[in-house]
Amino acid sequence: MSSPQFDLVIVGCGLYGATVAQHYIEKNRRVLILEKRPHIGGNVYTESIDGIPIHRYGAHIFHTSNEKVWQYINRFATFNHFVNRPKVRYQDRLFSFPINLMTLYQLWGVQTPEDAKAKLESVQIPHPAPQNLEDWILAQVGDELYQIFIRGYTQKQWNRPPKNLPAFIIKRLPIRLTYDDNYFTDRFQGIPIGGYTPMIEKMIQGAQVQLNVDYLKDKPHYDSLAPHILFTGPIDAYFNTQFGPLAYRSLRFETQHLPIPDFQGNAVINYTDPTVPFTRIIEHKHFDQLGPEPLSPTTVITTEYPQDWTPKVEPYYPINDTENNALYQKYKALAQSEPKVHFGGRLAEYRYYDMHQVIASAMSWAQKQLQ
Ligand code: FAD
Repeated sequence: MSSPQFDLVIVGCGLYGATVAQHYIEKNRRVLILEKRPHIGGNVYTESIDGIPIHRYGAHIFHTSNEKVWQYINRFATFNHFVNRPKVRYQDRLFSFPINLMTLYQLWGVQTPEDAKAKLESVQIPHPAPQNLEDWILAQVGDELYQIFIRGYTQKQWNRPPKNLPAFIIKRLPIRLTYDDNYFTDRFQGIPIGGYTPMIEKMIQGAQVQLNVDYLKDKPHYDSLAPHILFTGPIDAYFNTQFGPLAYRSLRFETQHLPIPDFQGNAVINYTDPTVPFTRIIEHKHFDQLGPEPLSPTTVITTEYPQDWTPKVEPYYPINDTENNALYQKYKALAQSEPKVHFGGRLAEYRYYDMHQVIASAMSWAQKQLQ
């Protein structure tokens, strides 16, 4: 019998697949990457319009406190010093965000942490044991902040009233009594200069890559090419959705190239008014173009509309409710019967992963295999 052509076939060229590929290549292993889409990078893919890297699948801001991950990813890109400071537009008003002392000044005129704390305490609607998102946030910030910053945005994002959503979704959102408006609290933050695609290109240098290839359409053939498979696609699709599909929330992106140098003066503006059908507008050049350099004459913006998921649209956010988690456990149990295959990444593990988490998880798996 002839020996397999590759040591590992990787299905999916997102960050999970690229990180594993890089580790294997570094150890002189032969890697084949199969990617269904016409490009590498998965959801972090960026493409250039007029020299501006466009985040095709939504804004991607790299942030981490994991020093190993930060050092690792800096081998493949030079990061700029972008810090995410989104703004909120509600009706005709504009606010600093996430909620901080400047927001409370804009809303109530309070200027010191002490005054802000007293004002917040006076508007909180206490709840003995808040279980859902609405009760939890009302107990933290009261009704006015809830209406302006949370209710409309959350309803649009999830297409469910906040009363029917678990509180954990919102608990990550900081409410600060300082003027710190950095959205993230991690030690390291930035965006690769020139976008994510050149970074992924560097990571997978040395692998054989086939684009526009759906592994599941010719599985026996691809399985014969290597003793091991890494599958980073949807776990339910791998098993032919035999127990039914796992549910997601999806997004629709509308991108416009405008003949003006600057549309909104900031990378991200959230639209929290429930009567506006989209949740945010991102202006790509502000992720990349920092400092006093003159702005290029045109700009590209993307408007983000949340939408229901169907098997025909991209799965973005897993709906990790009791029902879907139970369904995932059934697929996960089936995966045990596939010893040749490892299931990794956001779609195969049916969980929301930030980029640094997906890299950490892929590094850990690859290092174990290569010991
Ligand atoms: P993916 O990038 O989805 O890669 C999987 C790949 O597998 C895809 O390219 C897919 O086409 C391919 N594939 C699937 N099935 C097959 C098949 N049968 N055959 C061949 N190929 C297949 N993280 C942050 O840290 N910061 C952010 O600001 C941030 N913003 C985000 C914004 C949005 C809107 C979303 C949805 C996510 C965001 N993330 C962010 C998370 C980030 O996108 C993920 O952590 C990362 O993309 C996950 O990488 P992955 O390799 O697991 O999955």
